[in-house]
This record gives sequence, structure tokens and C-alpha cells, in this order.
Amino acid sequence: MKPKIWLSSPHMSGAEQTYIKEAFDSNWVAPLGPNVNGFESDLQSYLNEDRHVGALASGTSALHLSLIILGVSAGDEVICQSKTFSASANPIVYQGATPIFVDSERDTWNMCPEQLEIAIKDRIAKGKKPKAIIPVHLYGMPYKVDEINKIAKAYNIPIVEDSAESLGSHYKGQNCGTFGDLSILSFNGNKIITTSGGGAIVTRTSEQKEKAIFLATQARDNAPHYLHSHIGYNYRMSNIVAGIGRGQMTILDSHVSKRRSNHEFYINAFKHIDKITFLPEPEGYFSNRWLSCIQLDSYPTREGLRLALDKENIESRPLWKPMHQQPIFKDSPSYLNGVSDELFENGLCLPSGSNLSDIELDRVVSAINTYFASC
Ligand SMILES: *Cc1c(COP(=O)(O)O)cnc(C)c1O
Repeated sequence: MKPKIWLSSPHMSGAEQTYIKEAFDSNWVAPLGPNVNGFESDLQSYLNEDRHVGALASGTSALHLSLIILGVSAGDEVICQSKTFSASANPIVYQGATPIFVDSERDTWNMCPEQLEIAIKDRIAKGKKPKAIIPVHLYGMPYKVDEINKIAKAYNIPIVEDSAESLGSHYKGQNCGTFGDLSILSFNGNKIITTSGGGAIVTRTSEQKEKAIFLATQARDNAPHYLHSHIGYNYRMSNIVAGIGRGQMTILDSHVSKRRSNHEFYINAFKHIDKITFLPEPEGYFSNRWLSCIQLDSYPTREGLRLALDKENIESRPLWKPMHQQPIFKDSPSYLNGVSDELFENGLCLPSGSNLSDIELDRVVSAINTYFASC
């Protein structure tokens, strides 16, 4: 069996161990300490000095705290992009609120502004104004920020920007992760940088950050004994994990370059197969190309190709299955135009890691060429 080629695997710089060793040497083995503060300030300098960053246990916990800070509670409705990972939507349900799913458009594969406005008008007509909107920069491609912002502003609904897949992407020169009223990042094992598991909330005010950290550390009131007037969570990032994050920040930009060059490589390699198409970068959009995705025609099928790659020990994966198609969300109201269903049906994510070698990339290409030649 040839060695496994992964979709997206962790890629260390080497500097991580220095920060971890420092944490051990100084005995900061706790969910606070110099690496946590350092990682937060590294992220803040990278994104925008006018933002505040709180390091947390995961991107999911950052989404959950964002909804709490915006006052989302039982019986509320929250609009969420349907084409995404379930972690974008689950925290809505943690709060006892109802997710309202909105379909994608074809230019970025993200939340469709027209469907968004239809959804908002219809929810208001049915008696409830949505409490928040969660758009996602899928696979690193920024969503239509201006169009979505304009609608959110017109109806005065806050945005929780899910930037879990888009650290290093930007739109009209502004970094993804700074567009929301609140924004979130993820450092899970397969993301563009990883801390093994981790995430962050990005806020516009220091009060919001303090509130997030307060809730993330069991909501302890200011007293010598344990005193609580709020429900808290154990969502803070560990100082060991934050050390990995500090090391990863030193190579973030080179990871972005490598992922973008993987994407270019695939475009060139499949120029001769007109049944394989890619998502172009619209003017003003810069994607970190976290995952390189292709779209196929109805034949040969996406699933046929996936199985052919699997036989060669190459991992690939269908694009996110939309939330409105998930059994757990089958009763949630959805505003659909067919785009995300079609993308799921025909779309495949190819190996995209920043640590892929030329030999591995060539193996992927020849496996795909062989499959197309056999169809
Ligand atoms: C990974 C991911 C999350 C969740 O982040 P975790 O750190 O794994 O909790 C949320 N949304 C999207 C779009 C993601 O890809």
C-alpha cells in the first residue's frame, strides 16, 4: 500500500516546542499564562490592532459565547449559512434557539444575499426578527461581505462571522475575522494553522472580550470565595496549547502561500479535463485556499472519483453537506435556491495541506487522470 495522502494535516514550524518548553520550565501548565496572552496579541497584530482576541478551547465554543454575548436565548431565531460544517449551527441549538438556514450563491459558494433578505422579511412577517446572522467564509473564500453587511445593517441584525476556515484570507484588503460584530477562528487539527484543538473569539470592544473570558472561565464573580451570578463555561485555551499557536503564527503566511500554490497546481494539471472546474477568485477577494475544491459534471460522478482516490490511499471529501439536508435539522426553516445541493452533489475537496510534497501532488494528479481515462 502506498503511504496515505491526507486531505489536510497538521504542519508544525519547529518553533512550537520552544514555547511549550517555556511553559513547562515556568510551570504555566494551566488555562492561562504567557503563551495565552502572547498568542492573543500575535493574532491581534495579524488581524487588526483595533480588535480584541480571546483564545478559547475551540471555534465552536467561540460561536457559542458570541451568541450568548448577543443575548440569543430560548425561542429566538438565528440565521445561518446552510452550506457549512455543523459547528456553525449547533451553538444556536445550545441556546435553545432555532436555526434558519439560508442557501449559497455561485460566486463564492457562501450565503446568498438575495435569499438572506427573503428569509429576514419572511421571519419578520411570521412574527420574529432574527437575533443574529452567521455567514461563513467557506474553504477560505470570503463571503459577499458588502452585500451581507448592507442587509444586516438595514434590518439592524448583528453578524457573527464564522472565520474558522479563513485565517489569512482577505476581502478588499481587510482581513477575514474582522468583519463581524463578533468573529470566530478555529485552530483544529485540519485548519490552516492548528493548536491540536483550539479557537478564538474576535471582538470590537475590550468589554466584549472581558465578557467572553468571564463566561469561558466559569463566570466567577469578584470575591475571595467562589461566587456566581451567571452560568459559566470551561472554554478557555490552555497555556500549553497556546504555545503551539505561537509557533504556528510564525509560518501562517507561508502556509497560505503553499495552499494557494496547491490550488494553482491543480488548475494547471486539470486544464485538459473540461469536466473539472474550480471556483475562481472574484476581483477584490483573496482566499487562503484552505481546501482545494473541484466541481465535476454529473458523469463521471464525484463519488466515483472519491472511491478511485481512496483505492490509491488518497483522502478526499465531498463538499460540506448542507445543514438543511442533515437529519438533525430537517425541521428547521430553510430558504433555498438549489445551489448548495448542487455543489454538494458534484463537489470534491482534494488533498490541500501545506506539507504536501511534489511527489504526493503528482500522485493525486495521476490517480485523477487514470480515473478520467477509464470512464
Ligand atoms: C472547524 C469549523 C468550526 C468549528 O471549529 P472547532 O475549533 O473545530 O470547534 C466552525 N465552523 C466552521 C466553518 C469550521 O470549519
